[in-house]
Amino acid sequence: MIKTEVVIVGAGPAGLGCAALLKQMGIEDTELVVLEKGEIGQTFLQWPESMRFITPSFPSNGYHQTDLNAITPDTSPAFSIGKEHLDGKEYAQYLSMITQHYNIKVETNTCLKRVVNLADEDGFELETESMTIRCNYLIWAGGEFHTPNLSAFRGAELCKHNSEISQWNDLDKGEYLVIGGYESGVDAAYNLANTGNKVTVLDFIGNDDTNTYDPSLVLSPYTAERLANLSSRGNVELDDKFRVESVVKEDNGYTVTSSCGKVISSKFPPINCTGFDINLGPVSKLFDYQANGYPSINKFDESSKVSNLFLAGSRLYHDPTLLCFIYKFRGRFFAPCSVIGEELALDMSILRHYKKSGMILNDLDCCVEQECFC
Ligand SMILES: Cc1cc2nc3c(=O)[nH]c(=O)nc-3n(C[C@H](O)[C@H](O)[C@H](O)COP(=O)(O)OP(=O)(O)OC[C@H]3O[C@@H](n4cnc5c(N)ncnc54)[C@H](O)[C@@H]3O)c2cc1C
Repeated sequence: MIKTEVVIVGAGPAGLGCAALLKQMGIEDTELVVLEKGEIGQTFLQWPESMRFITPSFPSNGYHQTDLNAITPDTSPAFSIGKEHLDGKEYAQYLSMITQHYNIKVETNTCLKRVVNLADEDGFELETESMTIRCNYLIWAGGEFHTPNLSAFRGAELCKHNSEISQWNDLDKGEYLVIGGYESGVDAAYNLANTGNKVTVLDFIGNDDTNTYDPSLVLSPYTAERLANLSSRGNVELDDKFRVESVVKEDNGYTVTSSCGKVISSKFPPINCTGFDINLGPVSKLFDYQANGYPSINKFDESSKVSNLFLAGSRLYHDPTLLCFIYKFRGRFFAPCSVIGEELALDMSILRHYKKSGMILNDLDCCVEQECFC
């Protein structure tokens, strides 16, 4: 039985971002453990080799404009890796540097299996395959990459989810259907076309022009630019009025049917690019959920059901703001850390530096009301 104050689950940008902040507040080495079921930056290590960050990195930190993909104000992936659009392995390398620099204790290859919320004041008992841990504070930063969305249409399990592909080049050559025309769908189409395939992207894009520049809602400039390059080559088609209802496996391939009854066939399993489920693994039952399925949290990103259990990362939703990118959710590292810091009497002065560096986001209305005139 190990006893510690704080356990963070997940050594991705969210978990390590919170851990680095607590270390800068002066938490004792023995009072903070990060549990990671794979390696540091496991999600990024699983990205297809050709995948790149859509958010650019640039070492603009000195001007209070922290590198968009940095998780502390004083680091920059662009500076440490020397690239603007990092691949997954390079970002995982940046996360390893963070771990070393802030001396964060990470237990790798350690999957959290079970969590028991002990009676009031006693915190949590956590079980992994090899140990039992007692802690007073738990931050869930387990991400979404491990739970592909299999409920977007019937037969989704017959498709290949884009998160299962490690090299686009490994797939047999031919004609492919890609379901979903947002970031990962266009990335799949781009890579399939680049490796000599013909691709049809299926999506349903309504008529209401969202008139927004928010990359959570419209394609990022990086992806839009790649899409424009693809269109000129003619081996990618987009059917933006095809809402996929079902995929069925036939003797000689797959049949995809739209909600209006249109049918299209494919020899290969369609590529499912509809994203990921909201699944908080072993802490799922310790949260209530909002009407849209996102976990219910208070203004400190603490579960509205269980005290001292916090959420960090891309599943944070404060109506109407979804904090799904690193540059968005890093602005919330301060929320659980300031509660923990105050209760453990840590030195909170570092938060002034975070604020100056644009890494404290507490007025969430500001994010949606901002206009971009041209
Ligand atoms: C294809 C793709 C491209 C993207 N491009 C960008 C981009 O350009 N810019 C951007 O800002 N965002 C991008 N994102 C989103 C970004 O990857 C996520 O927002 C980010 O990974 C979320 O960070 P996280 O720390 O919450 O989760 P993750 O990075 O997924 O980290 C979670 C960690 O928790 C571990 N874990 C899970 N369950 C357990 C358990 N039970 N026990 C122990 N460990 C566990 C996992 O192994 C993982 O290492 C992209 C996402 C995808 C899929």
